Amino acid sequence: MRYERPTSLKQASALLAKEKGNAFVLAGGTDLLVRLRTGFVEPDLVVDIKHIASTRVIEAAAGGFKIGAAVPCAALGEHAKLKKAWPGVVEAANLIGSKQVQGRCTMAGNLCNASPAADSVPALVAAAAKAVIVGAKGKRTVPVEQVPVAPGKTSLKKGEIIESILLPKRPPRAGDAYLRFIPRTEMDIAVVGVAVSVTLDAKGVCKTARVSLGAVAPTVLLVPEAAQALIGTKMDKKALDALAAACSAACRPIDDKRGTREFRIKVAGVLARRAAQIARKRAGGK
Ligand SMILES: Cc1cc2nc3c(=O)[nH]c(=O)nc-3n(C[C@H](O)[C@H](O)[C@H](O)COP(=O)(O)OP(=O)(O)OC[C@H]3O[C@@H](n4cnc5c(N)ncnc54)[C@H](O)[C@@H]3O)c2cc1C
Repeated sequence: MRYERPTSLKQASALLAKEKGNAFVLAGGTDLLVRLRTGFVEPDLVVDIKHIASTRVIEAAAGGFKIGAAVPCAALGEHAKLKKAWPGVVEAANLIGSKQVQGRCTMAGNLCNASPAADSVPALVAAAAKAVIVGAKGKRTVPVEQVPVAPGKTSLKKGEIIESILLPKRPPRAGDAYLRFIPRTEMDIAVVGVAVSVTLDAKGVCKTARVSLGAVAPTVLLVPEAAQALIGTKMDKKALDALAAACSAACRPIDDKRGTREFRIKVAGVLARRAAQIARKRAGGK
């Protein structure tokens, strides 16, 4: 196995594109190194992107934020402006593993690992985040929900790397939230994860909404019907009931040792209702 640590994305992408065997990007390594040590993957080439300066910074971009692909999740929680604008995204990233894991892991790695139960992904989808992807043919920007296509599989082509994640500008009276259910108090995989992002008008009526579910389908889901249940309402009981029903209806979960299908479907509705209430409060709603 060859280990490379290029200092530009162009070099990194060229190394990955040229490799004939199994090639992997290494960000925090909290997924890749575990899979390597347990023998699930046998890389011929590992390309560490942490020595590429642009992947290590959080910058203002188009009124929002550009988060480099190698920024560890712990750094997100220490960025006051980011935390204020996108508390739901930051709380999701800060639920990953433990403090030690958060010191290494990245949101781009969470996205590219393509686990249906990835914690930061529903929050990014609800936030309408985009991934900036660099490859041999240049740059392209795609909605984050288009990156994972199946458990463990992404839409990235050979040689492509996520350079950064873009979070859009926040208008006034906006709020987001992420909640997950796990059987233990921490260090566990989500049985269900729900993210809600809303904006309100001056009267407290929901103007826009995005709702996303994790761990209830092969990939994280964006649920437009759930958003429609909130838009145009004051997010009262009737709207929250409709939101919960739409979330439960969208679930296509499996049965496993962490939870049955029925349990996941029920919990998706319960968490959606709670996450929406937190998002509304953060948006300044009464
Ligand atoms: C003890 C422990 C607890 C955990 N708890 C949680 C949890 O609670 N919630 C959760 O969601 N996850 C959890 N995880 C999984 C893991 O920490 C996350 O998925 C993490 O976000 C992965 O980020 P990373 O930077 O470490 O990725 P890496 O391990 O570096 O990479 C993961 C995958 O993505 C690819 N990749 C990484 N970055 C890029 C990029 N920029 N462009 C293209 N491909 C890329 C890699 O090649 C690899 O296939 C846990 C892991 C451990 C070890």
